[in-house]
Amino acid sequence: MTVSADHPIETPPRPPSPVHKFGTLAVHAGSPHDAATGAVIESISLSTTFAQSAVGKPVGQYEYARSSNPNRDNFEQAIAALEHAKYALAFSSGSATTAVVLQSLAAGSHVISVSDVYGGTHRYFTKVAKAHGVKVTFTPEIEVDISEHITPQTRLVWIESPSNPTLRLVDIRAVATQAHKHGIMVVVDNTFLSPYVQNPLDHGADIVVHSVTKYINGHSDVVMGVAAFNSDDLKDRLGFLQNAIGAVPSAFDCWLAHRGLKTLHLRAREASHNATSVAQALEASPHVISVNYPGLDSHPHRSIAKRQHRNAMGGGMLSFRIKGGHDAAERFCQLTSIFTLAESLGGVESLVEVPSSMTHAGIPRDQREAVGVFDDLVRISCGVEDAEDLTRDVLQALEKAVAEQPQPNGANGAEH
Ligand SMILES: *Cc1c(COP(=O)(O)O)cnc(C)c1O
Repeated sequence: MTVSADHPIETPPRPPSPVHKFGTLAVHAGSPHDAATGAVIESISLSTTFAQSAVGKPVGQYEYARSSNPNRDNFEQAIAALEHAKYALAFSSGSATTAVVLQSLAAGSHVISVSDVYGGTHRYFTKVAKAHGVKVTFTPEIEVDISEHITPQTRLVWIESPSNPTLRLVDIRAVATQAHKHGIMVVVDNTFLSPYVQNPLDHGADIVVHSVTKYINGHSDVVMGVAAFNSDDLKDRLGFLQNAIGAVPSAFDCWLAHRGLKTLHLRAREASHNATSVAQALEASPHVISVNYPGLDSHPHRSIAKRQHRNAMGGGMLSFRIKGGHDAAERFCQLTSIFTLAESLGGVESLVEVPSSMTHAGIPRDQREAVGVFDDLVRISCGVEDAEDLTRDVLQALEKAVAEQPQPNGANGAEH
């Protein structure tokens, strides 16, 4: 609404402002109207360079697009508002975000990480960080034994909550309290829940990171990452590396991800609602051994979900063990008609996969099984289709995969 200059009226603050709730911030934070044209939606600024009126005197606030550009600035502002952070920095992928955070540590630094981190994070910690003299210790029960792993060189604790693909939760506040006693920073990878369901900085984390590729963009058409935090010192150090390493997203990807983010609250709510329906149906099925979903009362960390998640939501991700072993898990994934067999998560469309031979195939079997990633585990990402259709699809696929014997000639009716 524009207010006529002749009749100025007192208006409440324009978003973003702390008085505004998530949906209002998602739509308005970092989304100024174009001052010259009045365009409600920002244009895509493809220019790599910006004119200067005199040597060292840029016309506006921009000089060169790697260092900063309007679309990235706007996206970063929106993320900062949604994660209750002072700053956010965008990167070319979730993995590049992890790399930059780890690169900010001096050689000789030590990191403590939860065991069941994202596969690519595990790979970076064990194969790349090591080459830069950063050592990582993994622990399956970080709240319990963090103090046993702290050394004078420990600089960072890395948490993923929920974990992938077994959806175990970590009490962020408990870990941050211990870590901060020793001046150690806490990073939370919040990809699986999105800022709508969980805001780690509110629970004591120092940095929250996301693979924007998943819920924040939400339409499975952008690879991107982001880190958000409050410290001015981190802004200097990570901002320097963002520019110096140059693993930055394109203006077009920033624009797309920003558009996706504006409906995050609607998508995350629907995905969580759908996952709850599917998890309940799975839990009641005789063909299922167990269900991992933080929205169920049977979840071992349900009390953490009630403290840490908005409205005690479970999020859109779940996993379950199917009866009949690995073969049944594979058959199940081929027998669903709405769920697509594919890696990744957090998009509007529902996906299904078998972690032991897909996303987590790189982890040795004994290590995998120690954290609950058995051959019969199936992971589901619920999209925003209708709950009734998703539940019916899961139940029919279970029936065929477990109860009915597979055809000896292998023709088991995959529909896509
Ligand atoms: C996908 C993912 C990443 C890596 O992000 P990319 O954008 O694929 O590089 C990191 N953490 C989690 C939890 C993820 O799901």
